[in-house]
Amino acid sequence: MRKFLMTIGADRCPALADEWIETENPYTGEPWAVIPRGREADAYLAVEAAHEAGKGAWGRLTATERGRLLHRLAQLIRENSDTLVDLEVTDVGRRRTELEGGALEYIASYYEYYAGLADKVEGQVTPVDRPGMLHYTTYQPMGVVVCIVPWNGPLLLASTKIAPALAAGNTVVVKPSEFASTSILALAELFDEAGFPPGVLNVVTGYGNEVGSALTSHPLVRKVAFTGGNAGGAAVARSAAEGFRSVTLELGGKSPNIVFADADLDAALAGVSLGIFSTSGQSCMAGSRLLVHRSIADEFVDRLVASMRDATLGDPGEPTTDIGPISTRTQFAAVLEHLDVARREGATAVLGGARALPDGGEKGWFVQPTILTNVTNDMRIAREEIFGPVLVVIPFDTDDEAVAIANDTNFGLAAAIWTSSLARAVGIPPRLEAGTVWVNAYRVVSAMFPFGGMKDSGVGRENGTAAIKEYLETKSIIINATVRTR
Ligand code: NDP
Repeated sequence: MRKFLMTIGADRCPALADEWIETENPYTGEPWAVIPRGREADAYLAVEAAHEAGKGAWGRLTATERGRLLHRLAQLIRENSDTLVDLEVTDVGRRRTELEGGALEYIASYYEYYAGLADKVEGQVTPVDRPGMLHYTTYQPMGVVVCIVPWNGPLLLASTKIAPALAAGNTVVVKPSEFASTSILALAELFDEAGFPPGVLNVVTGYGNEVGSALTSHPLVRKVAFTGGNAGGAAVARSAAEGFRSVTLELGGKSPNIVFADADLDAALAGVSLGIFSTSGQSCMAGSRLLVHRSIADEFVDRLVASMRDATLGDPGEPTTDIGPISTRTQFAAVLEHLDVARREGATAVLGGARALPDGGEKGWFVQPTILTNVTNDMRIAREEIFGPVLVVIPFDTDDEAVAIANDTNFGLAAAIWTSSLARAVGIPPRLEAGTVWVNAYRVVSAMFPFGGMKDSGVGRENGTAAIKEYLETKSIIINATVRTR
């Protein structure tokens, strides 16, 4: 079995207690590697290493020099893409075609985007209604930033945090999910090679309630950036609040994909399918509620079912695979439990609805792509985040009803509308309670524009120029020019 080590300061190390956690391959359901089970003492060492690096060599670099290192890192991610892709395929069950077809390049692009931004954070001179007073703002790094990352897209969801945090001049400690740590541990080794001083990027592995909570409550930590479920997010936010640490939270969703009768139905079909079935539905932005105009609902669902009926489930490393496994054993059980709930609530599975056993295997964690009709928006399956390849279908009659159903959720991460009407394309997005609204598109995301949630879907925004300010302190400087100076 392969053995991975943590990165703390200049060291690649096991946990102090020399305890290990087995990590499983979702395609086979078998353990394939071990990662260190860090605890409080390991978390403290990592925070101290990050703090020292900030006071030392890293703190002395100019913003342009930080940008150069981030550029070099992006290049190294590309040069090491085979290793990184292999790890995410094996550890997380992400499809190789998806990673090689753009997802890994997208990860590298984060470091380049924020490399370019590092030396372009400008303050402002503000008019003040006091004669002789000059006021201006500057920005400075916060200090040690803790990034807590889930299992569904470890490299990406770590990079959306690490890149702006380092561009802003902070140092970082990453806590990956214990289910999916290996690609982030491999990424950490590239920081050395890129020339980052030791301690700028540290990775400690282990359980959230052991090493994770030790990090979020450490007095030297000034900021916590989290992606994950709502329960974990609330726990992290409570712990950060105790020490008045700033937080950004990117949480779950139950995003509506709204298809109007005037839509280009071919485009809408592709968008609805991409919205829910890519990454086997394990995505915060999954378009898990299909709201479709009643006049086209039957035809649209029939076509969607036909397009997915022959989808190939199987080895995520194979180019012919359309749908990979559920990433963790626990999540697999949770999705099957939701399918039981769907049956009890009286929904009809017009596609799927059960476990799948592709390739004659008995051990992998596969769920059939599932489409559920006879669903109303008050059912649990329409309200709870399932985080699996399960789509609920809810017909609507009027635009107002579509908007009302779309907004009738605790979440507010994303939404999409499919229409050929300019009036709808312009008029409906402002009415939707979601941080991102796509028109005739789904899953279009970029380092270049903000992403994040309203309501229970989160606090703050990742990506775009504004996100770097989430990792900076604003300072007001006021000079009294009426006092004589030499
Ligand atoms: P969690 O939110 O529990 O895990 C996300 C990360 O937070 C993990 O690294 C976890 O570590 C860590 N964590 C959890 N609790 C704490 C804590 N108290 N202090 C510090 N760190 C902590 O996600 P789950 O794996 O439990 O998934 C639960 C549900 O969340 C899923 O069913 C899905 O609905 C949703 N989800 C949403 C994601 C998104 O992208 N928005 C991503 C993943 C899940 P550890 O795993 O070791 O506990």
